[in-house]
Amino acid sequence: GSAKEKAIQFYRSCMDTQQIESQGTQPLKDLLNQVGGWNITDVGNGKDFNETLQTVMGRYNTFPFFRVHVGPSPFNLKTNIIQIDHPEFEMPPKSKFKGKNYLEVLRVYLSYLKKLGDLLGGPQDDPSDSFSLTLSFISNLQQVVTPLQERQQRGMLFFLTTIKELQEKAPAIDWLSCLQAIFYPMPMNYSQPIAVHDMDYLRGMSQLIEQWPKKRVLHIYMIICLVGNLSPALDSRFQDARWELSKILYGEMGSRMISAERWRKCLTDTSSFFEPVLGEMIVQEIFPQQTKKLAEQMFSEIQDALYRQLDQLEWMDEQTRQKAKALVSELQVEIGYPAYILQTDKVNLEYQKLELNEDTFFLNVVTCLKVLRENSYLKLLQDQSQHNWHVSPWTVHSYYSIRHHMVVFPAGMFRSPFFHMEFPSAVNFGAIGVFMAHELLHTFYGYVLPGGCPTCNRSALQKSIDCLIKQYESYSFKVNGTFTLLENIADTGGLTIAYQAYKNWLKKHKEKDLPKTGLSHDQLFY
Ligand SMILES: [Zn+2]
Repeated sequence: GSAKEKAIQFYRSCMDTQQIESQGTQPLKDLLNQVGGWNITDVGNGKDFNETLQTVMGRYNTFPFFRVHVGPSPFNLKTNIIQIDHPEFEMPPKSKFKGKNYLEVLRVYLSYLKKLGDLLGGPQDDPSDSFSLTLSFISNLQQVVTPLQERQQRGMLFFLTTIKELQEKAPAIDWLSCLQAIFYPMPMNYSQPIAVHDMDYLRGMSQLIEQWPKKRVLHIYMIICLVGNLSPALDSRFQDARWELSKILYGEMGSRMISAERWRKCLTDTSSFFEPVLGEMIVQEIFPQQTKKLAEQMFSEIQDALYRQLDQLEWMDEQTRQKAKALVSELQVEIGYPAYILQTDKVNLEYQKLELNEDTFFLNVVTCLKVLRENSYLKLLQDQSQHNWHVSPWTVHSYYSIRHHMVVFPAGMFRSPFFHMEFPSAVNFGAIGVFMAHELLHTFYGYVLPGGCPTCNRSALQKSIDCLIKQYESYSFKVNGTFTLLENIADTGGLTIAYQAYKNWLKKHKEKDLPKTGLSHDQLFY
């Protein structure tokens, strides 16, 4: 079938709660048996440990000890690189609960684990003891994580290494086999470049794995991570347990992160696996070509206004001015959606290998995790020129990407109250227009930074900067004007540019009035 048919099939299997309830824990139990179940006696030997780890990571996209992903290389912005970081712990680390009683947090998490154990026939010999030991292992792991601030200070956020070097520094893991399992069918070898975010953690983690006295705990920990990763696909008892946990740990607000209504949850799940498909459906629904055309016209009006404004800047020397103009005209603009999502053939090809099951939501999730992960890694590592959007087409979030010198405005932004085809242009320019100019101004961030423009008249520029800092710090709410400078420049400047653009627009287009409000066009803009 087509990618769209598969997305619908996936959504339906998620909505079929009757089926999900009647299957209960059986699908997960079957899966756990494939990795040895809860009770394994001989995990002491490194081979078994690494084999289980490879299965858990490669087949089920679960990363208990370290997280692997592919992202832009800090060493060469044009390419992507494999990156390794610490895992995302389900149990919150102590540092997140400074004010609260951490023992209480541990108690709550432990009882959550026991509940899972009860539901799944957990470890048999004294399960509460096994879980308590696992808990201490997790907190040991968390203690070897280097805090972000320290990593920044020591300049260790991106450490370029190879699989060979990883094997020497963290020998408890069979790195080559693990990465082969994750990136199958791509070939890996010992000289594969890797960017590591926290080498001290990997070293500490390896030591812990080797020294931990009860080896069985390592296995139970992997199973817990697997269950945690897959439990959103299980029946209501698992959803209730997760909801209870997040309510106690993070309060009512935090627990709202988990959708209460089934359709919301299913939509979120479907969109995480079928983003281009849902993107296309939404674009057809809310973003017709005439909206895209108007949005593009507005953007180019704003670009012109900025271009002209550059001639007015007194602190900028002539050479820099020409360079700045080039920056504006070379900028890549993406409005609405990434072009490829409307190319149905391409999208279908991406989902070709995916085979879904009519009535087992759980297995569908497992299949999607594997097949789609393989796809995305292949795409990222083989086709370096391709830039994926950071946001979905339906989100209300624009951004400027330094790496691609590109601004992105997803379709979700072109809706009321930011934009409407029938709004007076004053309203559109005063809302979405200001956002457009805001992102556009971010392309100049370099000039503002100290030393960013050696040939500019720095004292004149500094005078304007100081003035803006003072303005923002004089507001009644507390703002650090220096810290937020780049955003404030984009906000204040964006408003000015958008207003200029609106004035130019009026020379060429008719403007509507809003009857009954009695507001002038300028008032509507602001
Ligand atoms: Zn911004």
